[in-house]
Amino acid sequence: MCYVGLDLRHLGEEVINRKLPFIRELAHKYVGIDPLSDLIPVRPAVHYTMGGVHADIHGRVLKADGTWIKGLWAAGEAASISIHGANRLGSNSLTECLVWGHITGEESVKYAIEKPELVTDDSIIEIAKKEESRVFDKLIHKEVNANTPYDVKRELNDIMEEHFGPFREGSKMSEGLSKPLRLLEKAKSMRIDDSSRVYNQNLKDALEADGMVELGLVIGLGAYARAESRGAHYRLDYPKRDDTNWLKHTVAYLYGGEVQLTYVPVTITRWKPEERKY
Ligand SMILES: Cc1cc2nc3c(=O)[nH]c(=O)nc-3n(C[C@H](O)[C@H](O)[C@H](O)COP(=O)(O)OP(=O)(O)OC[C@H]3O[C@@H](n4cnc5c(N)ncnc54)[C@H](O)[C@@H]3O)c2cc1C
Repeated sequence: MCYVGLDLRHLGEEVINRKLPFIRELAHKYVGIDPLSDLIPVRPAVHYTMGGVHADIHGRVLKADGTWIKGLWAAGEAASISIHGANRLGSNSLTECLVWGHITGEESVKYAIEKPELVTDDSIIEIAKKEESRVFDKLIHKEVNANTPYDVKRELNDIMEEHFGPFREGSKMSEGLSKPLRLLEKAKSMRIDDSSRVYNQNLKDALEADGMVELGLVIGLGAYARAESRGAHYRLDYPKRDDTNWLKHTVAYLYGGEVQLTYVPVTITRWKPEERKY
């Protein structure tokens, strides 16, 4: 195997222990190596997922028509309150996790204390029951040779890197669009080795992998449709920003296994959008 490694060996034990004890601890915990004698493997990682669940300033999850999906809230990296534009700068998670963690938490508790009527819509109850049965009856009892969540995640990594990486191109993306869809089928029959119902990390990893494949599909379709470059979305075949056609948010919905893209306007207040010049 060939990899890029960070070499700290020349610093020696005394300097590493005094100045970089946390780095040594992390290298040991995560990859089982000691930087005194080994290189720390450098790996690409997703720093942050831009966009997210369409939510308003109170953390309420919205439909494309701006109405609230009653009783549903989102905060943190999962949510898109739309305060950042398409760009992502450092420390924005602080705003999302602390400010909207607080606001959304408070608002949802207030709502729960008001004792809202329970959902009685049969179709929603039916969906919830199906999901419960998928998770607890099907995922946990899969045959031995099915894919693990880790196989699914690795394959998704490869698809996203090959077709929807930082420098995107229409033809390469169109080649890759069907791949997350096929992977979604594989994700449906993942194998969970841990069958407990309490603190089951393996099950959590499966649910997370499942969500990541759906997200990969949405990212792919949204990026392919957006024929311009904006913020971190860079298209080699459309290198310019196109405010006439694309100054709008993409909102995607999954209906019956199919992703539908819709668009909502961008609210611009004090800070007008400007071309990135660095
Ligand atoms: C390498 C790196 C460096 C970063 N550096 C900075 C920085 O310097 N400054 C900054 O502001 N931000 C930084 N970020 C981003 C910041 O860390 C995240 O945006 C923030 O931690 C997100 O917090 P969260 O609680 O919203 O989500 P998370 O911490 O991602 O928590 C979500 C949880 O939900 C679980 N989950 C997912 N799906 C399911 C499911 N279906 N069922 C049950 N559980 C599920 C996940 O396992 C996870 O535990 C960095 C991120 C990375 C990866």
